[in-house]
Amino acid sequence: MTSTPSCQQDTLLTRAGRDPGAYAGYVNPPLFRGSTILARDFETWDDAQAAGGPYARYGRFGSPSIRAFETALSELEGGHASHVFPSGLAACTHVLMSFLRSGDHVLITDNVYGPTRNFADHVLRDFGIEVEYFPPALGAAIGSRLRARTRLVFLETPGSLTFEMTDVPAIERAAHAAGALVAIDNSWASPLYFKPFEHGADISVQAATKYILGHSDALLGAVTCNEHAWRIFQPRIGLFGATAGPEDVNLALRGLRTLGVRLRQHWQSGLALATAMTCHPAVVRVLHPALPGDPGHALWKRDFLGASGLFGFVLGSEQKPVLSAFFGALKHFGIGLSWGGFESLALPVGRPARLAGWHETGTLIRIHAGLEDPQDLIQDMLAALDVAHALGASASNTPRLPPADKP
Ligand SMILES: *Cc1c(COP(=O)(O)O)cnc(C)c1O
Repeated sequence: MTSTPSCQQDTLLTRAGRDPGAYAGYVNPPLFRGSTILARDFETWDDAQAAGGPYARYGRFGSPSIRAFETALSELEGGHASHVFPSGLAACTHVLMSFLRSGDHVLITDNVYGPTRNFADHVLRDFGIEVEYFPPALGAAIGSRLRARTRLVFLETPGSLTFEMTDVPAIERAAHAAGALVAIDNSWASPLYFKPFEHGADISVQAATKYILGHSDALLGAVTCNEHAWRIFQPRIGLFGATAGPEDVNLALRGLRTLGVRLRQHWQSGLALATAMTCHPAVVRVLHPALPGDPGHALWKRDFLGASGLFGFVLGSEQKPVLSAFFGALKHFGIGLSWGGFESLALPVGRPARLAGWHETGTLIRIHAGLEDPQDLIQDMLAALDVAHALGASASNTPRLPPADKP
């Protein structure tokens, strides 16, 4: 597959990874199902084996659709090469398992995706890897946490529950000076709104389940590496046996084609909704790095090209009847995990007590602004907040406690 000629991002989205000449002119690759891939003759088989080539003669090592998606993704992320996994979490865990070995030390941002943290706490520790968390706002001060044994720093910015931002270039400089690699879970921004490799990352992870697939109908993940990291990662990925399903990969390719227009709408609706909520008397705080006044705003403005539709807010009550009335009043927001689909979601998170930066009282609620009409979303949300307010939810109920200084 050849790389796409230089063009703007929206054009790249429509072209990347396509090779119609290979499929009788069809715009999209067909669905490749299969385990066995027959060789024409002995010589072809022998040549392919000797080359260890990308179609290493078995379905587990991928199909032309998988290559198409991986090619497109690495062009969009600006990396050297990508590999697709059956879920976003599988992409995260493969990074941790591939770049760490027994006796290493890994630094992980404290606002990392919960299941990634669970994997680190249980599996990595069982394998003799020392796991340490650090506050997302640490920045260059991470230098004092880096050791000779630190092989990897794993970031997520903004974190998908508290939306705290991390200074990626500052961390990257300190990590690289100490000989550690930097991985970023880049799912919030998608490959469009944050370019991890331009900001010094070695490895980028996408939960493609979210904005890339975009329709809440499949799970998929991907890892993109720069050249140095790929040399470490590539020989290991085939060893784990995690192969993405063919339908899911074709859906991801389809999702990519519309990612640009969808994300602009998610961004616009999410920001309009967040802005409308900031002054509501039932709202303690809105957590959205694209809002001026958000603690992460300066970093977002400096490093990001846009915002997605995922943000949070703190409702000024912890009372179950108030929460029940609030969620009951919402007509356009479903209660459910995940995000990035066309439909709006509101998720009761509660109190993420394990997060270092978390010092609010009240109830954290995560919002995903979908593709509905933004005015419908705003009216629906403000009406539900009015209901909560009438039952006692109030910003003034909830004195802010001083921040904890240790994770
Ligand atoms: C959802 C999510 C994942 C995991 O993706 P799955 O496809 O659900 O396994 C990883 N990281 C972040 C930030 C996520 O939000």
